[in-house]
Amino acid sequence: MTPIAPQAAGVDAHCHIDLFPSPDAVVARAEAAGVYTIAVTNAPSVFAHTLELTRGSRFVRPALGLHPELVRTHGGQLDQMLQLLPQTRYVGEIGLDHATGDADDHRRQARVFGAILERCASAGDKVLTVHSRRAAAEVVAAFGTSFPGVVILHWFSGGLRDLQKAIDAGMYFSVNPAMFRSGHGRKLIAAMPRDRVLTETDGPFVRSGARPAEPGDTIPLQSDLGGLWDCSAGEAGAVVVSNFLRAIGER
Ligand code: MN
Repeated sequence: MTPIAPQAAGVDAHCHIDLFPSPDAVVARAEAAGVYTIAVTNAPSVFAHTLELTRGSRFVRPALGLHPELVRTHGGQLDQMLQLLPQTRYVGEIGLDHATGDADDHRRQARVFGAILERCASAGDKVLTVHSRRAAAEVVAAFGTSFPGVVILHWFSGGLRDLQKAIDAGMYFSVNPAMFRSGHGRKLIAAMPRDRVLTETDGPFVRSGARPAEPGDTIPLQSDLGGLWDCSAGEAGAVVVSNFLRAIGER
């Protein structure tokens, strides 16, 4: 008997499934819950593992990444990253991180990020989940105004002016429980157009109570969004799912 496919219940646009102790169980729970999940990775050398983990999954998509904070030690994997790009439509975690004031590191990050964006632009249909800590203006500027792909700014924490530039450039935003716990985070979420909002966990780095947050933990965020948007949790969830499907062109 063919199992009945679950209805789409939510979106986790940024989760490090490979960093959980039992990643296959996290994939199985996301699949059972019907949560569309972008399974990001931090270095090209670990991508094959996540590709394997998500094989045959309807809801969990494997992403190829090179995390900006790892560029110092793993920047040599850029060529591998560019070679692997045709294997998946999803790209992340990539971006810039200026939390340290090291100018050499910023230059290396910009070189790697620029090379990845150039190749993604040539491909034309990539879905990118992008880190921008202390580098919101630089990240938004790196894409220009006509980047041919889907850009999702993950855990955006810049200012309202940079947020507006990202909105004007057509970008999406994935918001997480930690953002709802912060005053600035809530102010940013309130300023995001509803049709650009996605949810994420950034698990296992963000926690849900005593344990690391995983894709199913995006469901309670739908209540928070409903409170903000003056609608029910179910309606907010439908908006988020519909945003994701529209972004990736599967609707
Ligand atoms: Mn992350």
